[in-house]
Amino acid sequence: MAQTYLKLGLNLPIKFNNREGLVIKGMGVNNGKSLINKPATRQFLMESIGEEGLKVVRSLMGRETTDEEIAEKTGLKLNTVRKILYKLYDYRLASYVRTKEKDIGWYIYTWKLDLGRVRDILMARKKTTLRELMSRLEYEKSHIFFICKNGDCKVTFDVASEHNFKCPKCSGIMDYNDNQGNLLSLEGEVNRLQKELRNA
Ligand SMILES: [Zn+2]
Repeated sequence: MAQTYLKLGLNLPIKFNNREGLVIKGMGVNNGKSLINKPATRQFLMESIGEEGLKVVRSLMGRETTDEEIAEKTGLKLNTVRKILYKLYDYRLASYVRTKEKDIGWYIYTWKLDLGRVRDILMARKKTTLRELMSRLEYEKSHIFFICKNGDCKVTFDVASEHNFKCPKCSGIMDYNDNQGNLLSLEGEVNRLQKELRNA
């Protein structure tokens, strides 16, 4: 069986054996075992790759292996496994090394997990949400709102005034809308996220 020595980004020597998977010398492969049980990580994976995706992730934990071997181990179709792997790759949660198998002349893709990236993704999402909430909060703070009695429209004072305080949609009467409740819940949400990001 052909054995190739190649280098991953880690700059560690790797002994490649396409049946056994990769063995990285000088490094225990811990690429997700402790992370998969974190509720936030699990939830993210469930949402992005689903139950079948979790099977693929589990079969990749603690080792590096080929798409074909994952399909064998999980009982999933090779095509399904590949789709999931490329989804993980899209999120930079998995990477692969492509090697040409000299004996058989085709390429072998050996995959590796990096679940640690889930944390970065979740942090980036929280930051985006925080920015959106803060701009919404600013908007709510700096405007006076009017709401249609029929509940189908909420507009700023300027818009309500342009329409003589009649609803632009149904011509119903528009009343002043007290947005204190909104402000409070937005502020609460902003504080909660800021705290989470500080403690992360
Ligand atoms: Zn209306």
